[in-house]
Amino acid sequence: MINLRTQREIIKLKDATRISAEALRVAGEACKAGVTTWEVDKVVEKFIVSQGAEPSFLNYQGFPASSCISVNDTIIHGIPSKNIVLKDGDIVSVDVGAKYNGYHGDNAFTFKVGDVSKDVEQLLETTEKALYCGIAQAVVGNRIGDISHAIEEAVTPYGIVKEFVGHGVGKNLHEEPEIPNFGPAGRGPRLMAGMVIAIEPMINQASGGIKHCPDGWTIKTADGKPSAHFEHTVLITQNEPVILTKL
Ligand code: MG
Repeated sequence: MINLRTQREIIKLKDATRISAEALRVAGEACKAGVTTWEVDKVVEKFIVSQGAEPSFLNYQGFPASSCISVNDTIIHGIPSKNIVLKDGDIVSVDVGAKYNGYHGDNAFTFKVGDVSKDVEQLLETTEKALYCGIAQAVVGNRIGDISHAIEEAVTPYGIVKEFVGHGVGKNLHEEPEIPNFGPAGRGPRLMAGMVIAIEPMINQASGGIKHCPDGWTIKTADGKPSAHFEHTVLITQNEPVILTKL
């Protein structure tokens, strides 16, 4: 079932999404050379708790940290670790959500540590742009497939990760509908005012192929090339889409 949020729910959601967005900003500030991803996660966790919120990801289906931190060829679901030390030229995808007043926010951003190569810079720009192309289609009268198709068009010829998708957000971190980052326009559920969705392109520099790691969480590119991930929680309205995780 696709939930439509009332005005009262949207007010609560806005607190959760604001805390999520601020947590992501705090994470970005912490992503510096010499810092471990474990330390970044602790900064995120402290911030969320300081706001009276809960980290949405902590213990979600057994996930052991407050944020997913995925470096370079790790696409998503990287487990923060004392053994992963950030260095100049790395890219760091941080995915974080906060639960407040019974509602979740969800967002992600791929941060740069120092200077990155031109190729990687372009991958990040393209993926972020694709997120906004998808968001632009999140309007009443369109269908989910219009979002998916806009993202696919914006990132071609990069490799699209097809196994993981965007999703509805609300009382649960992951709700219906699923939002693939590829596919034909004009298909799938109709978009309606009051829907709240997380749109999240995960794009690889080369092939879209993925590899599951033995820890049961970490997803890497099959070819070892870098990957980018940008995500916003978006409210569909009678007018323009509202990016709830934008500060
Ligand atoms: Mg998400």
